[in-house]
Amino acid sequence: MAPLTFKVAPDSKVQLAKIDPRYDADIDRAKAEAEFVKLTAELDELQELLFGAGTHSLLVVVQGMDTSGKDGTVRKVFSQVSPLGSYVVSFKVPTEDELAHDFLWRVHQKTPAKGMIGIFNRSHYEDVLVVRVHDLVPEAVWRQRYRLINDFEHSLTQSNTIILKFYLHISKQVQEERLLAREQEVTKAWKLSAGDWREREYWDAYMAAYEEALEQCSSEAAPWQIVPADRKWYRNYAVAHKVVTTLRGYKDEWLSKLGKLGEERLLELKAFREKV
Ligand code: AMP
Ligand code: MG
Repeated sequence: MAPLTFKVAPDSKVQLAKIDPRYDADIDRAKAEAEFVKLTAELDELQELLFGAGTHSLLVVVQGMDTSGKDGTVRKVFSQVSPLGSYVVSFKVPTEDELAHDFLWRVHQKTPAKGMIGIFNRSHYEDVLVVRVHDLVPEAVWRQRYRLINDFEHSLTQSNTIILKFYLHISKQVQEERLLAREQEVTKAWKLSAGDWREREYWDAYMAAYEEALEQCSSEAAPWQIVPADRKWYRNYAVAHKVVTTLRGYKDEWLSKLGKLGEERLLELKAFREKV
C-alpha cells in the first residue's frame, strides 16, 4: 500500500507547495471510511494495553493552519478511546505566568504519564511558528528553539514516550471555503475570529515557518508526518492509520507485560487464600 502520510526524513528538505493537499493515495472513500471505523475500534483496544502495561506514554502533536481540521481530527480519531486514559490540551496565547517562564515550561507539565495518551492541539511548535511569523521574540531566540525542541523531545522518547507529530496540510483555497462556510451558520460562527482572516494574509510566512520547523525537528524517534488534509475523510483515515500501525508495533511487548502482571496478581491472591 502507498504511504498515507508523508514522513519527513531527518535532515531532508520540505517543500509544502510540492505536496498536493488533495492527495488520497488512490483510495476509495467508502473503503477508507469503513476501514476508519475498524481502526478506531482497534485504537480503543491498543489504548487499554498501553494503559495496563504502563510502560509507555503516547504523545500526539497536531499542528496546522486555521481550519486545517485540528479539532475535528482529534474528535474523530480518538472518538472510541476511553477518556480515563487520554486527554487533550489546546495551547493558546501564553498567559503572563507562562511567558515569565521558558517556552517549554507549560508544555512539559502536560506531557503524558506512563500509560496515558496526551494529545496536543497546537503545541510547543507555536513558539517557532506564530512567534516567528509575528516577530514576538528576536530571531536569535526562536532560532535556538529548534535545538531546544529536539533535546526536549529526545528526553521524552528516552523515557518511553512514543511521539507522533501531524501537520495537517490544507490549501489556501480550502481554508477560504471553510472560513466562509463558518459564516453561513450562526451556530458555527463562534469558531470564527476576524484574526483568522488577518492570519491568512501571512500564509506564505507560515508556510516558510512550517517548512523550517518540519525540517529542523524531524528525528527518527519523533518524525513529522505531513497529512494531506483538504478532504476530511482522508485526513482522519490517514492519521488513524498512522497512530494504530505505530501502536501495533508495541502490542506483543504490552501483552507480555500484562501476562506477567496478571501472573503476579494471581500468585498474590493464592498466597492470601492459603493464609486464611
Ligand atoms: P485556537 O487554536 O483557534 O483556539 O487559537 C489559539 C491561538 O493561540 C492561535 O492563534 C495560536 O497561534 C495562539 N498561540 C498558541 N500558542 C502560542 C504561543 N506560544 N505564542 C503565541 N501565540 C500562541
Ligand atoms: Mg482558530
